[in-house]
Amino acid sequence: MFFRRTREDRAFREAQRAGYELLLRLQSARPWPDCPEPTSQDPVAEETVVPDFLPPELRVPSRQEVAGVMMRWLQPLVVDGEVRTCPGCGMYRDWIVFCMRDDSVWLRCRAGHETKEPGLDAAWYNRNSGPVDRFHPTLEEGLRHLGH
Ligand SMILES: [Zn+2]
Repeated sequence: MFFRRTREDRAFREAQRAGYELLLRLQSARPWPDCPEPTSQDPVAEETVVPDFLPPELRVPSRQEVAGVMMRWLQPLVVDGEVRTCPGCGMYRDWIVFCMRDDSVWLRCRAGHETKEPGLDAAWYNRNSGPVDRFHPTLEEGLRHLGH
């Protein structure tokens, strides 16, 4: 009696497991149309399957996809207690400030002289700039938009 029951239990469990495996096979072969596919636990795979919901021209590029960000800085720019002047023309206001992808900060005067500003960095730029509201395909378009 005891052995018989055990055999029956084992047969029942095996049938149950076979049914469950069959269900899994069916689900993996033919996912329900309204249900999302089971998500992969592999983070690399997840990164590669992220779809582009928007066409490229509407997608907001990440900071790593752009060459840099820029803003206009009308007032005199004070770095470490000193007003920055352009080494090319001596101008000290109305800068375009660039923050490049390598976190370096550059200043550009109205005359187009560009100088790297080692006293400023990306953290300074982020503190002092507004949110990015516009993307320019070229530097020239960006400068024109900012009035230079
Ligand atoms: Zn200049």
